[in-house]
Amino acid sequence: MDFDLSEQQLATREALRNFLKRECPIEYVRECDEAERFPYELYAKLAEQGWLGLPIAEEYGGAGGSCTDLAAFLEEFAAHFEAGANIFYTTVVIATDAIGHFGSEEQKRDLLPKLARGEIRFAFSLSEPNSGSDAASLRTRAVLEGDEWVINGQKMFCSCAQVADYILLMARTDIDAPKHDGITMFLLPKDTPGVEIRKLKKLGLKPMDLNEIFLTDVRIPKGNVIGQVNKGWRNVLKTLDYERCCLSAVNVGAAQSCLDKALNYTKERQQFGQAISQFQLTRAKLADMEMEIDASRLLLYRSANLVDRGIPNNKESAVANLASSETYVRAALNGMRMMGGWGYLMEYDMQRHYRDSKLSEIGGGTSEILRVVISREMLK
Ligand SMILES: Cc1cc2nc3c(=O)[nH]c(=O)nc-3n(C[C@H](O)[C@H](O)[C@H](O)COP(=O)(O)OP(=O)(O)OC[C@H]3O[C@@H](n4cnc5c(N)ncnc54)[C@H](O)[C@@H]3O)c2cc1C
Repeated sequence: MDFDLSEQQLATREALRNFLKRECPIEYVRECDEAERFPYELYAKLAEQGWLGLPIAEEYGGAGGSCTDLAAFLEEFAAHFEAGANIFYTTVVIATDAIGHFGSEEQKRDLLPKLARGEIRFAFSLSEPNSGSDAASLRTRAVLEGDEWVINGQKMFCSCAQVADYILLMARTDIDAPKHDGITMFLLPKDTPGVEIRKLKKLGLKPMDLNEIFLTDVRIPKGNVIGQVNKGWRNVLKTLDYERCCLSAVNVGAAQSCLDKALNYTKERQQFGQAISQFQLTRAKLADMEMEIDASRLLLYRSANLVDRGIPNNKESAVANLASSETYVRAALNGMRMMGGWGYLMEYDMQRHYRDSKLSEIGGGTSEILRVVISREMLK
């Protein structure tokens, strides 16, 4: 088994690292976090340099990167700017995957090149006030009236809706079918009359806005369906393994950043006449972080490799997501512990990891749901 990235992947990662050092210094990350604002400048530069096209097929103006390429990209991006990497996943990757697999040729030719050039952004809206983990029980309703779909309902927890041009909206199109059938994925232009978006205040990942969406007699053309009518749940399932792989990459990169910061801090901070890195209890924490991050990274690249080879990876992607998210949360918590009172101050970056890390145990399936997925596969 080859655990190494290829020469090409290492070179790409190096180029990205240099780009981020130049265009995304820590001051910029802090500023976007404090102002709770979308990193527009960074995204314009990512588009200019062709990074937004990484997961998009070459025939649609992208670089045709594999899942492993994308994992390496997201890991490095998250090590510099976790919210930035999450935004990349939300606004570019989900739509690339859904449209790439289920969109019509016309939709692909129209949307994917614009996405690669950074001219449009997407958000993905599945969750509702009463359907989170049990996402397929969603109630937002779409009814075909002549040549238009008329949509009514309420969506909850939609990341990046405010900065998106299109929302990939999941709505129920057949109320008599079993809950996993009768759901359709729609392409909803955000500025359609009847769409009201409200911002939700949250704990972390401040540059990535979070929204609830109210849909009142929203009318979109009949053709604004991604994939088949009533078969939208297939789109979601297809995207999930890929999603868990991408989210694991973000977790690994961000956890590594916690460890790097903790290591530097403990080597410099002196107490009882020596660096606190000399205390065995500190070293044990550092060693645990190293072990867990290393293990998560191997799980991540195993699942990316399975995705690339087209091998079913439901369990492996869930394992990678679960291990990496819990690793990241523990890394941030231990990072805070090692910094004592200083970690609690907003001028240090560990508090941001502490706030940001929590979402990793919720998005893409909560830790409990990931355990349900893994154990279900084990008991098959
Ligand atoms: C910052 C943020 C960004 C998000 N972005 C998006 C987005 O862009 N698009 C989108 O559609 N959604 C998004 N979500 C929603 C996210 O996917 C849901 O929050 C998540 O799936 C959990 O749903 P819930 O919050 O309704 O919790 P619930 O499903 O109500 O769960 C509550 C608790 O019950 C547990 N639980 C539920 N079912 C089971 C079970 N079968 N067995 C054991 N325990 C169970 C859960 O694990 C959890 O601990 C986002 C959420 C957040 C916080």
